[in-house]
Amino acid sequence: LNRRLAEFGTTIFAEMSALAVRTGAINLGQGFPDTDGPEEIREAAVRALRDGRGNQYPPGPGVPELRAAVAGHQLSRYGLSYDPDTEVLVTAGATEAIAAALLALLEPGDEVVALEPYYDSYAACVAMAGGTRVPVTLRPHEGAFRLDLDELRDAVTDRTRLLLLNTPHNPTGTVLTRQELAAIAELAVERDLLVVTDEVYEHLVFDTAEHIPLASFPGMRERTVTIGSAGKTFSFTGWKVGWVTAAPALLTAVRSAKQYLTYVASGPFQYAVAEALALPESYFAAYRADMEAKRDLLAAGLAEAGFGVYRPAGTYFVTTDIRPLGVSDGFAFCRSLPERAGVVAVPNAVFYDHREEGAPFVRFAFCKQASVLEEAVRRLKAAA
Ligand code: PMP
Ligand code: GLN
Repeated sequence: LNRRLAEFGTTIFAEMSALAVRTGAINLGQGFPDTDGPEEIREAAVRALRDGRGNQYPPGPGVPELRAAVAGHQLSRYGLSYDPDTEVLVTAGATEAIAAALLALLEPGDEVVALEPYYDSYAACVAMAGGTRVPVTLRPHEGAFRLDLDELRDAVTDRTRLLLLNTPHNPTGTVLTRQELAAIAELAVERDLLVVTDEVYEHLVFDTAEHIPLASFPGMRERTVTIGSAGKTFSFTGWKVGWVTAAPALLTAVRSAKQYLTYVASGPFQYAVAEALALPESYFAAYRADMEAKRDLLAAGLAEAGFGVYRPAGTYFVTTDIRPLGVSDGFAFCRSLPERAGVVAVPNAVFYDHREEGAPFVRFAFCKQASVLEEAVRRLKAAA
């Protein structure tokens, strides 16, 4: 392994899912739903396979039906108008979109300011692109992990090329507010920064929280690369269909890198996801309500089991503090949890450069059937 990647080793998700399989524990570690997405969308994929749509290389930027559907989604939801031919790109999941964006936009030595904790591929992709990551830590404040806007401002230097954002935020469940996003947008304009914004959990916002795309703020459309994913929005994480929307110059740059990563992927699934994006509002509302109920179930159960609970405003993860249980090393806690309690979770420390900041936090995924969550809670209570 070269020096750029030496520090990364095996992703925590592979490690923890393997541990779950080995011990037979309930896997609340890796974030994937245990119920597949809508039957009619699976049927759409079968039809595409059977009719020979997408069985050979699809067009490099994605099939026209899906690019049109992505543009339609951004317009009808957010009033953001993108040209399907020049401003939309289909990728092999959000993961490839992140990689392609960073590889396309960074020069060696460029600094990337990212919210910490961050999804693990961010650090690895910044490193592969030869960039330097500059983390700005979200810290617990009144029950949620919050961004300190002054710290964000202070993190920007003359070498900063881009901001790498994620809202709703994995793993903390924080949803950036309109005021925070407006301040970030002002900063980006003032310092002439690009922004790559990972909005894969855009449809998972709870209570009164609202997802507002950063690209919709003044001055942002021209400098923002927005990333979405069917894995999260439609519960098909194995299909690996994601997308990018951006103004033509940025989109062209991302597409240039993407050509040499996978070239194309997921042919028949692209047609099915095009149909999924056109599902009625009732689908999205029911999905959100279902996940909100699961959040309530797991958050309440974890609190009863003695964890400190950060009730998420979005995503399908809940971050907990294990110190009320009398321990403070999340790594050690997660490594022994399968044996002790028959449950797998993820130590948030893996999402930090400042490992000590993340040490006492542990993430549980709640995109699981209620009966599974109930059993996990029962086990955690028994082991407490
Ligand atoms: N970004 C975030 C914040 C995620 O949580 C994930 C998936 N867990 C991804 C990107 C990757 O999405 P995909 O599976 O579409 O590659
Ligand atoms: N995004 C999911 C998570 O955060 C899993 C992604 C992966 O396995 N790479 O858990």
